[in-house]
Amino acid sequence: MTRANSLIEADLQCVWHPFTPLQGLRPPLEVIGGEGAWIYTAEGNKILDLISSWWVNLHGHNHPYIAAAIARQAHNLAHVIFAGFTHQPAVLLAQRLLEILPPNMAKIFYSDNGSTATEVAMKMAFQYFYNRGEKKPKIIAIDGAYHGDTFGAMSAGDRGPFNAPFEPYLFEVEFIPFPEKHNEEVVFQQFADLVNSGQVGAFIFEPLVQGASGMRMYSAEILDKMIAYAKAHQVICIADEVMTGFGRTGKLFASHYLHHYPDIICLSKGITGGFLPLGVTACTKEIQEAYRSPELMKTFFHGHSYTANPIACAAANASLDLLLNLSCQQAIQRIGQAHEQFADHLRKGSYQIRQVRQLGTILAIEIDRTGETSYFHEARNALYYHFLDKGLLIRPLGNVVYLLPPYCISNQELQLAYEAILEIV
Ligand SMILES: *Cc1c(COP(=O)(O)O)cnc(C)c1O
Repeated sequence: MTRANSLIEADLQCVWHPFTPLQGLRPPLEVIGGEGAWIYTAEGNKILDLISSWWVNLHGHNHPYIAAAIARQAHNLAHVIFAGFTHQPAVLLAQRLLEILPPNMAKIFYSDNGSTATEVAMKMAFQYFYNRGEKKPKIIAIDGAYHGDTFGAMSAGDRGPFNAPFEPYLFEVEFIPFPEKHNEEVVFQQFADLVNSGQVGAFIFEPLVQGASGMRMYSAEILDKMIAYAKAHQVICIADEVMTGFGRTGKLFASHYLHHYPDIICLSKGITGGFLPLGVTACTKEIQEAYRSPELMKTFFHGHSYTANPIACAAANASLDLLLNLSCQQAIQRIGQAHEQFADHLRKGSYQIRQVRQLGTILAIEIDRTGETSYFHEARNALYYHFLDKGLLIRPLGNVVYLLPPYCISNQELQLAYEAILEIV
């Protein structure tokens, strides 16, 4: 048996992979390295990573600048309890995030992934009202939302087939329809009616782009209008920027497209450039003030063992250095322009396409497969392997083929993806 084969055998015996049915799929590929937008397999193939390895990678695999920062930090301080102690990488990162987040953000609470960032946000909002002795138990979310896989995050997420086994254990959430041009007025009215009930404490949303539901995009105008209305009625607005953060939408944060800023912003995924897990829940001063009290029970009793891990914070600081560099900002614009041109081409041609969506570095193509099942499972897998066999990592969401590449990708590399997409539409 070759080395690769024996490793796959061992994997199949011992490991349980995320989001992966146990039957009907090919065994996993062993990856032995990566560089730039490419990952290398043990079989000697290279694969172009067009989804930033589940939306986390910003600057390419194993970027030496981030790797060096991690090594330095690991030699100085690998980890320390974050209650009663602090350290330079965490404080520096908090300062730097507050410089680039919307100006009303004032405090940074650390956790260690996207699901915990949104759990923290919702708990922060619930306890805000609890501490003030107010009863506003309800939370509004948008149909199709994805906020993570822990119970709170699942509760605020779409109640689709993936969450069905857990349905009885999820708390009640008011879902409003996904806002589109044709229904914006109706959605807003429904939203306003809920807010007017006086029962709603928070509104959680993925700003401008719903990732997991298929890179579905909605307008900044309608979101602005909802946020303005919510804030006028003391409803806490939570922007889940776990996917949209750090340049994906063409601006550093999707919230920068808005005139009315959220009260809480959740970050993770791209924060460390795709090197290490880290979650951030940023909030306004006003939110935190509800916790300032001589009463012990008004404390926010939430934390994780690896909260503000110094190595993860050092990776995030290094990733920010790269992100804020002019050349990276130019790359983000360049990718956006390339996507836009390709999207125009697709819209003008006569292809089997229902809709093409694009914002910044995110391109999504909804393929027309009328007549097939809604979940589109077989075809989705076929497409995934079709691209993979061409050396392209593209993981369709249902019938939506999307690209969300790391910013180091070249136009020539993008062209490989565009050509492969043209072949299937
Ligand atoms: C991925 C994602 C999450 C969950 O993040 P994890 O790190 O996978 O737990 C939450 N919200 C959004 C918008 C996401 O895309």
